[in-house]
Amino acid sequence: MDASNRGVLLNRLADLVERDRVYLASLETLDNGKPYTASYALDLALTAKVYRLITPLQLEFMQRLNCKTAKEQSLALQGDFLCFTRHEPVGVCGQIIPWNFPLLMQSWKLGPALAAGNTIVMKPAEQTPLTALHVAQLTAEAGFPPGVINVVPGDGPTAGAALAAHMDVDKVAFTGSTEVGSIIQKASGESNLKRVTLELGGKSPNVVFADADMAQAVEMSHLGLFFNQGQCCCAGTRIFVEGKAYDEFVERSVQRAKLSKLGDPFNMETDQGPQIDEVQFDKIMELIESGRTEGATMLTGGSRHGDRGFFIQPTVFADVNDDMRIAKEEIFGPVMQIMRFDGMDELYERANKTQYGLAASVFTKDLDKALMVAQGIRAGTVWVNCYDKFDAAAPFGGYKMSGFGRELGEYGLHLYTEVKTVTIKVPQKNS
Ligand code: ADP
Repeated sequence: MDASNRGVLLNRLADLVERDRVYLASLETLDNGKPYTASYALDLALTAKVYRLITPLQLEFMQRLNCKTAKEQSLALQGDFLCFTRHEPVGVCGQIIPWNFPLLMQSWKLGPALAAGNTIVMKPAEQTPLTALHVAQLTAEAGFPPGVINVVPGDGPTAGAALAAHMDVDKVAFTGSTEVGSIIQKASGESNLKRVTLELGGKSPNVVFADADMAQAVEMSHLGLFFNQGQCCCAGTRIFVEGKAYDEFVERSVQRAKLSKLGDPFNMETDQGPQIDEVQFDKIMELIESGRTEGATMLTGGSRHGDRGFFIQPTVFADVNDDMRIAKEEIFGPVMQIMRFDGMDELYERANKTQYGLAASVFTKDLDKALMVAQGIRAGTVWVNCYDKFDAAAPFGGYKMSGFGRELGEYGLHLYTEVKTVTIKVPQKNS
C-alpha cells in the first residue's frame, strides 16, 4: 500500500479514537487506575495526535531521504552505473508494551510501524489489555487489511518470550524493565538476530538552580515525579537543588505534595489513583522503608492511604544521599528524593552516577547554564524549564541501560525501515 494511503487509514484511526474518547478514557481508568481526568485530557489527546501526526512526518522523511540519496548515489557512484535506495518496511514487528500508559504506548508503537508499512503482532501488558483490544477493533473499522495488526494479550514469559524468540519476526520493539530488556536482546541473539529497540527504566535527574522561577520549578518537579502515580519511566526521581534554594524548594514541594487528592479515579477531583497492583505496591513500600532506615528525612507521606486498594500517600524525602537505595533504584511510585548540590562539577558527576540515561531536566533562567547541563548529562531527553513534554516529532529513548533506539520523530521512523541499494548498469554515464 502506498504511504499516502496508509496515511489515510491512520487518519481514520485517529478520528475513531477521538469518536470513542469517553469510552476509551473510561476503559483506561478502569483497567489501569489512573484518574479519568488524566486519561481523558492527556492519554487520549496524545494518542490521537500520534496517529494523526505520524503520517505527514513519514512522508516528509521519505521525501528528504529520496532527495538525499538520489543526489548522493546518482552523481557520486563511480563508473557507468545508476544507483538508488529503497526504504522498505522491516517486515513483521513484534511489539511488547507496558501497563503504565497502555493507549499511548500502543500508539508510539503502532503509529510509526504502520506509517512505514510494517505488519504487527503486539502484546499488551497482562495488567492492562482492554484498551489495546478496543483499538485493534478500531483498526479493522478504519479499514486496515486483515492480518496487518494483530493484538495478542498474554503473559510476558510465555506470549512475550515467544515473540522475542520467533524466527519469522523481523523486529521486536519493547518498552518495559531493564531486566526484561536484556532477556529480549538475548532472545534475538539466540534466534534470528531480529532488530531490537528497547525503551527501559530510568532514574532521571532533575536539576533546579537557585535562579529558577521557583513556583514553576516546584510545580513541574511535582508533575515530573507524581504524574501517573509516579509510574513513569522518565520520572524525575533525583532532584538536585542548588544549596541557596534548597530549603525553599523542599518546603514548597512538601506543601504541594500535601495538596494531592487521592481516591476513586472516576471522581473528577482525584489527582492520584492506586498503584497498578500488589507487586508494585509492595516494592514501593519496601523502598520507602529503606529510605527511612538509611537515614533520609521523610517530610510527608510514607504510608498506605486508606485501607482498600493500593493507594500510597505522596511521599517526599529530603537529605537524600547518592548511595541510598531510593537514590539508585527505580521506584516507579509516588516517592520524591531531594538532594542538595553546590557546584557544576559535582553536579555532572552525581547526576551521571547511574546505570540509567533516559531523561533529565533543568530549571534556570540562565540559558547558558541550561545548555551546559543539557550537554553534560548523559540522557536521551533533556527538558529545560518543563517536564514530560512529548511530541510525535520529538524522538524519545535512552542512553546506557535505559535502552537503545529512538521512538517517534524521524529517528523512530528510520528504525522501522530497511535500506536497500539498487545498482543498475547503464551503457554510459554521460552527464
Ligand atoms: P514492569 O516491571 O513494568 O511490569 P516488565 O518489563 O515486566 O515491566 O513488563 C513489560 C512488558 O514486558 C509486559 O508486556 C510484559 O508482559 C512483558 N514481559 C515480561 N517478561 C517478559 C519476557 N520474559 N519476555 C518478553 N516479554 C516479557
